[in-house]
Amino acid sequence: MTNVLLQDWDTPFQIAPFDAIKDEDFAPALDVALERHRAEIDAIAGNTEAATFANTIEALEAVGHDLNKVLGTFYTVAGADSNPAREALQRDFSPKLAAHFAEISGNKALFARVAAVHDARDGLGLTDEQARVLMLTHRGFVRSGAALVGADEARMKVIKGRLAELGTSFTQNLLADERDWFMELDEGDLSGLPAFVVDTARAAGQEKGAEGPVVTLSRSLIVPFLQFSTRRDLREVAYKAWTARGANGGETDNRAIAAEILALREERVKLLGYDNFAAYKLETEMAKTPEAVRDLLMDVWKPAKAQAVADAWVLEQMMVQDGVNGPLAPWDWRFYSERRRKELHDLDEAEVKPYFQLERMIEASFSCATRLFGLEFKPLDVPLYHADCRAWEVTRKGAHVAVFIGDYFARGSKRSGAWCSAMRAQAKFPKVQAPVVINVCNFAKGDPALLSYDDARTLFHEFGHALHQMLSDVTYDSISGTSVARDFVELPSQLYEHWLEVPEVLREFAVHAETGAAMPQALLDNVLAAATYDMGFQTVEYVASAMVDLTFHEGAAPADPMATQAQVLEEMGMPSAISMRHATPHFAHVFAGDGYSSGYYSYMWSEVMDADAFAAFEEAGGPFDPEQARALETHILSTGGSADAGALYKAFRGRLPGVEALLKGRGLHAG
Ligand SMILES: [Zn+2]
Repeated sequence: MTNVLLQDWDTPFQIAPFDAIKDEDFAPALDVALERHRAEIDAIAGNTEAATFANTIEALEAVGHDLNKVLGTFYTVAGADSNPAREALQRDFSPKLAAHFAEISGNKALFARVAAVHDARDGLGLTDEQARVLMLTHRGFVRSGAALVGADEARMKVIKGRLAELGTSFTQNLLADERDWFMELDEGDLSGLPAFVVDTARAAGQEKGAEGPVVTLSRSLIVPFLQFSTRRDLREVAYKAWTARGANGGETDNRAIAAEILALREERVKLLGYDNFAAYKLETEMAKTPEAVRDLLMDVWKPAKAQAVADAWVLEQMMVQDGVNGPLAPWDWRFYSERRRKELHDLDEAEVKPYFQLERMIEASFSCATRLFGLEFKPLDVPLYHADCRAWEVTRKGAHVAVFIGDYFARGSKRSGAWCSAMRAQAKFPKVQAPVVINVCNFAKGDPALLSYDDARTLFHEFGHALHQMLSDVTYDSISGTSVARDFVELPSQLYEHWLEVPEVLREFAVHAETGAAMPQALLDNVLAAATYDMGFQTVEYVASAMVDLTFHEGAAPADPMATQAQVLEEMGMPSAISMRHATPHFAHVFAGDGYSSGYYSYMWSEVMDADAFAAFEEAGGPFDPEQARALETHILSTGGSADAGALYKAFRGRLPGVEALLKGRGLHAG
């Protein structure tokens, strides 16, 4: 019998038949899929006819169908619902896949054909999209080392395989540290915690098999614990455990892994002729150079730090009034900040939360997409990989657009954070293929499930990524959806967060879980005003992480990344009561893979654009202005990576934005 992963799926919209897939199916399916892909590649490389766009570049777009199915399915469950078997598979797969793709990018005959088409590009009469795919394919080969020969080529292969392994170990160590640590709380330890935190702590205790409530390292539990617990001693213990993830010594320690990753990255790009990893990495980005990134970060750092220092002084006075002698420690910031927030905005998380029901926020994110883009969402009953997952069919004027899957709740088998991925990307070649898109979050479970305002923003954020995938309208898979420059990919997601802030959206969907009443105007005003509260802190913890990331990759790789991290923070004058948002041993963005390495700045780069892009709506007919919505879809949401990111933005807005829009959006003041 054929492996279910390799069959044609006759499920609705050919969604992976999760109920029929067993963990033991993945390894044999991958082997067959890799073998088929290899044969397809060999056929393209070994073609005796002269290389053409169709028989080389387009042919490459058409292959790997089985591989995409197997990996799209596997990585969905490995990230969102792991278990020891899946962790073992992931460890086996990553060197295998690295070797497979290294074999393709190192295929001399194939590269010769790609280079031949590239050389002849001006006379081929290609469409803009085809020319773009050709440029990207050729550049991808060159950057991965296709032009290397002999010892350099062999070394490159070793480096890439090792980097893939190290990235997987980094992630798994982090997951292990997050899963293993918890702190049991006696009834007396619950002091200051609102009911929703206690409920979450009790649910977590049950999951861990503890007698009573526990604090875990899940962001949705530890952050509210740090905000509300009056027990400074427990906050300190919890905070230290949280920030020690990946740095606990022993088998799960990530510090040596980080150093090895940085050294290998440097060696890798030097083989390709780049000065350093950042120069290599930024070549394909909208920012283009490390200098441009540093300038942006430092422009933001100065006003953010000034704000944070002023805020720290206020918080320390509050602490002293509490009879606690300073200095303000990192485990104090969220607690006193929460109290100050309450004073300034009279905004109590526990009072706000009942208005942000998960169900209503999902509806809100859908409703905005209906008004802006005419999308409609209908629940879809299909077997998924976990009982908490839900699916919807997305249509427009009755026509199928995509399948959207939401997997919202935190659980031990899910890695932390929130993300969007396409189990199947949109494409029209070799045949029309509608996307299957998934949003994964880590919201606390409850009945009804209630979100913080930040959680609700996360939901809108990930849904913005999902729209980028679902509205994609390109021919080729390789440039579909979110396959864009890294410092551009957060534009649709961060932009979509703005619709949560639209008062009429909040009035309709932010209704009380028990009474059904709309959020009172005063509370609503406060929620909006509070959205830029503590931006000094948030900007500082973020920019510090981005600067450390850039520094790691800008010069020679540091032998001791922890020492370099300390030095960067020292030079920046990092306020002592604030830590990096992600310190090196758990900086998964940078070390779990290559995705955000020397690219963590990109969230802020995108924020420059999202503030400016939303202003386009405000300057026109308002947040639902149909002309602007059409322009956004035409030039950004549907175009994927079919043109340079700067060009796409200019087509939408007519110009490029500056840093002022970002500072205004964060409530910070330049100079
Ligand atoms: Zn994002």
